[in-house]
Amino acid sequence: MGEILELTARQAGERIRAGELAAGECFSAWAVAAAGDDLNAYLWRADEDGAGSSYPPLAVKDIFCTEGVPTTAGSRILAGYEPPYTATAVRNVAEAGVELLGKTNMDEFAMGSSNENSGYGPVLNPWDRARVPGGSSGGSAAAVAGGLAPWAIGTDTGGSIRQPASLCGIVGLKPTYGAVSRYGMIAFASSLDQCGPLTRDVTDAALLLSLLQDRDPCDSTSVGIDGGVNSPRREDLRGLRFAVPSELATDGVESGVRSCFEETLTRIEELGGEVGETALPSAEHGISAYYVIAPAEASANLARYDGVRFGIRNEAPELDAMYEATRAAGFGDEVKRRIMLGTYALSSGYYEAYYGRAQRVRTKIADDFRAAFDRFDFVVTPTSPSVAFELGAKLDDPWSMYMSDYFTVPMPLAGIPAISIPAGLAEPDGGGPELPVGFQIAGPAFSENAMLDAAFALEQAIGFDARPPGVG
Ligand code: GLN
Repeated sequence: MGEILELTARQAGERIRAGELAAGECFSAWAVAAAGDDLNAYLWRADEDGAGSSYPPLAVKDIFCTEGVPTTAGSRILAGYEPPYTATAVRNVAEAGVELLGKTNMDEFAMGSSNENSGYGPVLNPWDRARVPGGSSGGSAAAVAGGLAPWAIGTDTGGSIRQPASLCGIVGLKPTYGAVSRYGMIAFASSLDQCGPLTRDVTDAALLLSLLQDRDPCDSTSVGIDGGVNSPRREDLRGLRFAVPSELATDGVESGVRSCFEETLTRIEELGGEVGETALPSAEHGISAYYVIAPAEASANLARYDGVRFGIRNEAPELDAMYEATRAAGFGDEVKRRIMLGTYALSSGYYEAYYGRAQRVRTKIADDFRAAFDRFDFVVTPTSPSVAFELGAKLDDPWSMYMSDYFTVPMPLAGIPAISIPAGLAEPDGGGPELPVGFQIAGPAFSENAMLDAAFALEQAIGFDARPPGVG
């Protein structure tokens, strides 16, 4: 069984399809591993035999609707909700022969960077259980890093795939907006949300994205990836130009993260790539724009949780009082904070001052990237300014929590794809255990194949093979 868990998803799939590994045996090896969850990574686990599958089973963030399977988006307000249909992303992989292994814990409605906003308790980082796995797809990231799942999907609105992948030492990819259907993915900020893979290596990320991507009639913003997604095979970076944004590269970055980032730039050059600097003058306003746009869209999307159609209901003599009692009891603090922020930003007297301006900043950020991609193939940054921080460290300071996504929010605002790959280990500032550091590569819209190829070449050169204590 140990041997099955060592295989990447692609390797296991090849053996299953070659008849060298029984699909049921593969499934049950992973079901046993998932049942040993001591990270609070899962909210629900499947009880199947997996005999008919073509790949190992998949851990799915609990934000994806799954027919007849509890789906909570990490919120108490959806306790007990079982959707009548399955999200297209999950259906697509199922049709390719990937079964559901379990539903993973997450920050409530995907709002957070540490998983501490889950209504079902925080997820622990397998590298150090006193630390957060990142968020909001923290359960998916911890499950893959902790050997509790072969691969997983998550969603990224401002960094929720890439930042937890970085903090857990795995690969996380946010596709171009529109590459994967959002149908059945519980909405947080609809103009930003994208589904993507969290995997052990770049090859698995490409494989999973190839199964996920689709033009879906149920989501009019989905277009898929033209020509599909290939298995990456590039061995060098010759002829490719990588830009380090001058405004983003230094601010508030831990020294261990910075040196790991710089070492990776050297590797790029060793592989024949060119490293230069670019200006992304508006990107530093990404966090400000994001924390107007995302709460604004969330306040509209979350209006539907009123105790009438989904999840819990707290009875009261009047209808309005029932809504209020249900929402007061069902939503956590961060969700309430964002609903208030978003409702205020959209209110008629302030709409232009906040939402309108944030949208203009968003356009400028997209223009900055377009200008950078005239001269460069990719923009690179550290994925997260710090390695995994301690549970509770940022809970009372929303602003410092929001800054965790400093490097990851500009890409969804611009709609472009980005991948985080593990680049090494570093100590946190102030000392502590060595923890994973992620390296982020962003490319133009629909450049997934080129981006995966570059990430693959770099991954081979970095040769990151560290595992959390006790895993593998
Ligand atoms: N951490 C960011 C937030 O709290 C991003 C979350 C996400 O990408 N879903 O909104």
